[in-house]
Amino acid sequence: MDRDTATADARTADAQAARTPPADVRRRLPRTDAVLADPRLAGAARRLGRALVKSEVVRALERARAGEIPPETVADTAAGALPPTAGGLRPVVNATGVLLHTNLGRAPLSRAAREAVDAACGPTDVELDLATGARSRRGASALDALCEAVPHAEAAHVVGNGAAALVLAATALAAGKEIVVSRGEMVEIGDGFRLPDLLVSTGARLREVGTTNRTSAGDYAAAIGPDTGFVLKVHPSNFRITGFTRSASVAELARVCPPGVPVVADIGSGLLRPEPVLPNEPDASGWLRAGASLVTASGDKLLGGPQCGLLLGRAGLVRRLARHPLARALRVDKLTLAALQATVRGPATPVHTMLHAGAEGLRARAEHLAAELRGTDVDARAVDSEAAVGGGGAPGVTLPSAAVSLPEEYAGPLRTGGPAVLGRVEGGRCLIDLRTVPPERDADVAEAVRRAAKAAANGRGEE
Ligand SMILES: *Cc1c(COP(=O)(O)O)cnc(C)c1O
Repeated sequence: MDRDTATADARTADAQAARTPPADVRRRLPRTDAVLADPRLAGAARRLGRALVKSEVVRALERARAGEIPPETVADTAAGALPPTAGGLRPVVNATGVLLHTNLGRAPLSRAAREAVDAACGPTDVELDLATGARSRRGASALDALCEAVPHAEAAHVVGNGAAALVLAATALAAGKEIVVSRGEMVEIGDGFRLPDLLVSTGARLREVGTTNRTSAGDYAAAIGPDTGFVLKVHPSNFRITGFTRSASVAELARVCPPGVPVVADIGSGLLRPEPVLPNEPDASGWLRAGASLVTASGDKLLGGPQCGLLLGRAGLVRRLARHPLARALRVDKLTLAALQATVRGPATPVHTMLHAGAEGLRARAEHLAAELRGTDVDARAVDSEAAVGGGGAPGVTLPSAAVSLPEEYAGPLRTGGPAVLGRVEGGRCLIDLRTVPPERDADVAEAVRRAAKAAANGRGEE
């Protein structure tokens, strides 16, 4: 018998030993109450609620009964399986290289925004002027911060997301009337949601002008009439049309619109001011200066804040929207307002930091991490990578990046580990793209990779 076969036999014997006869297992199985009395689990029950902790204990007991884990490790197993919070949503390290990953909740909040949310959790002055004791405009300080941050914005209103901003504008300004829009700007946002469907659902009619690739200001001018609610400009944020193309700029639209016909412009990405790294992305300030009456945008894209929809522009229009009955149904909570204000007023957001990270610095981090992992026998190497903005922003733009390249089989254990690390599987390797990983998480990522390597080895039956 050669050495490999001997090891294999020993392994089979171990596996059989783990499947101890039921009577013996039953005798060694602890009682649920005894497991729950474990100090770690008792503490967790106070933090997370007894029901959640008990369900993990019951699950661990079942695994012990089935011979999957030794009965002595039930408390350890249950404690290890507990989520970090009672919220159900687990924190994930975004190592995909996609800055605004929709499935990961788009923009990560800044520390300032998290602290603002924390401070607003209890009773707070969201609709109260503490100086006078009188009721105030809801979220007034966040709205003022937005107007300060966006030159040419006379007033601001905030709703649940970018789509809600469009719905409110369409309902308040164009229900029963026409929205004049280019055929080249009838966008599907994602997951089957299409702006034309959204707009029509408000009772507005679409007056489509131009063609997929070419629409001129004259096309809009010819369609504007007594039935026009507004003219809509949509930034095609998640695709590009190249070749024989033409579109009317906001400035041209402002020139062809008679007084009383607003130009509503959906920039999508949420940039309030120009971003040098993304010269083709429009910004709210620029489009308002060019003549847009109202700009709509998302809060959790390039702005780097919480999910919300911004409406910025002429005071009279914003007031009409804010007073419309639908505004009440679309309003945001105090936590969103707090996070938004801290995002707009506070220090650079994580999205800004990711966008501006230098490629050499990322490469150095990748080299360092890979070397450290190789030191513990992990197959890791530093490679060049390409990151993307994502979240339906800056289509076709790639940002030079660096990644740690790992065996593809690590992807699963990394995803299900704690912290969960989501990499990008490409060319048969699992890439940990460092542009989207905050540098202070590098040590956590290294630790997670070591655990994933172990889990993958166990999966292959190695020790
Ligand atoms: C993302 C986007 C939207 C939708 O915004 P949500 O905040 O996701 O609702 C609308 N229009 C454009 C151009 C977008 O890019």
